[in-house]
Amino acid sequence: MPPFLLDFLRRRIWTLTAGIALACAALLLLGRDAVWALLLLVLGAAVIERFVAPQEALGDQPERRTDDPLSILPPLTQLLFEQLPMPVMLLDEGERVLFVNQWMRGLLGPGMERKHVSAVLRNPDVLMAIDDAMQGRQANVPFTLPVPIERHFQAYAARIHVAPTVTALLLHDLTAIRRSEQMREDFIANVSHELRTPLAAVSGFIDTLRGHAKDDEAAREQFLNIMGVEAARMRRLIDDLLSLTRIEMNEHVPPEGRIQLDSVVREVAAALMPLARADHVTIEIAGGADQPPVLGERDELIQLFQNLIHNAIKYSRDDGHVWITSGQTADGQVFVTVRDDGEGIPSSAVPRLTERFYRVDVKRSREKGGTGLGLAIVKHIVNRHGGKLQIESRQGEGSSFTVLMPPAPPENSQNEEPVAAVTEML
Ligand code: ADP
Repeated sequence: MPPFLLDFLRRRIWTLTAGIALACAALLLLGRDAVWALLLLVLGAAVIERFVAPQEALGDQPERRTDDPLSILPPLTQLLFEQLPMPVMLLDEGERVLFVNQWMRGLLGPGMERKHVSAVLRNPDVLMAIDDAMQGRQANVPFTLPVPIERHFQAYAARIHVAPTVTALLLHDLTAIRRSEQMREDFIANVSHELRTPLAAVSGFIDTLRGHAKDDEAAREQFLNIMGVEAARMRRLIDDLLSLTRIEMNEHVPPEGRIQLDSVVREVAAALMPLARADHVTIEIAGGADQPPVLGERDELIQLFQNLIHNAIKYSRDDGHVWITSGQTADGQVFVTVRDDGEGIPSSAVPRLTERFYRVDVKRSREKGGTGLGLAIVKHIVNRHGGKLQIESRQGEGSSFTVLMPPAPPENSQNEEPVAAVTEML
């Protein structure tokens, strides 16, 4: 049977059936001949066609189409919406969900299709924006999803005039931007707080020296010493802030030098030996002789191990020990571990150690001249070198900080790589 005839029969099946049924009924009732029956059949079909079919064409048909997202979206458009890296939802005229892409499903969960939008997204501002869009006005509103973790979005709603008309809801994820704004605010608050304390001390002593301690030589000497310590603290803080900014700016640029970590560690330990001796701390170094080089930036690696070894000395016990071990793990990673037998770190604090200005004991860190930025700097340097930082600690027993980095590729492999890539493409 030709397809157009099939399609006609499919769309008019109810009309024909009803017509035939009506004709049969009339025939039975009237008992007249076939001509009358045929006439009645045509009449019946015409009546049904006039009163039933138009409703069907206007009402049922689009309903059937809009219920099935596949039928309103051509495959390419659907693929594009599905792959669009932001949550997308399409709604029909009755604000029921026609289509959601993978990002929207990831955000609001599965099984949203055909539900009313208010049942899947209970935010009054977004629902209002959708209503506005339905009236033909473009709308965009900020909104926050509080659970499971707080996320911030800008919701855009717009009516799209295709057949049938749909309303599109797109969500732009602003969580990362909001977080970095918050971090910047916290950072500025922390820096001003850190600078305010030594500044207040210095200005206090200046006033005292100008006032009643003017002619007190012993007091002058003592106050000048304290002012020197506070000035040094501010200088260290500014130096650490500048280092952190510099490292962060370069974090996406992989380092190129070929560095033997073991030699850097030995150099740093030798430079810190006087400090260790002053604190009666013994430093022991082991391993690393046949360690392969890593791709690294020498100055940054020096700073990394300075911070770790200095911390081990600062937070070790009297007559304590610091052990530095270098080598290669079973899976080929280059490692350096700095271990001490100091006060240790409570396990709840370990995940927060690399946050800026986080200290387990603020008073102790200040007494030791700490800025609270040392481990944040370590983390950024390790990240830039494609490495990992592992921290293990037991309170009262000591801590160990392990830096793991991938070994540098063999020296001639940089020339060979493009050839390999071309071969692969061919
Ligand atoms: P700080 O300048 O305060 O030393 P860091 O960022 O270097 O700042 O370290 C953050 C905090 O981590 C320190 O204040 C200290 O509480 C803790 N910490 C770091 N290293 C050690 C260690 N080896 N032993 C015990 N606690 C440590």
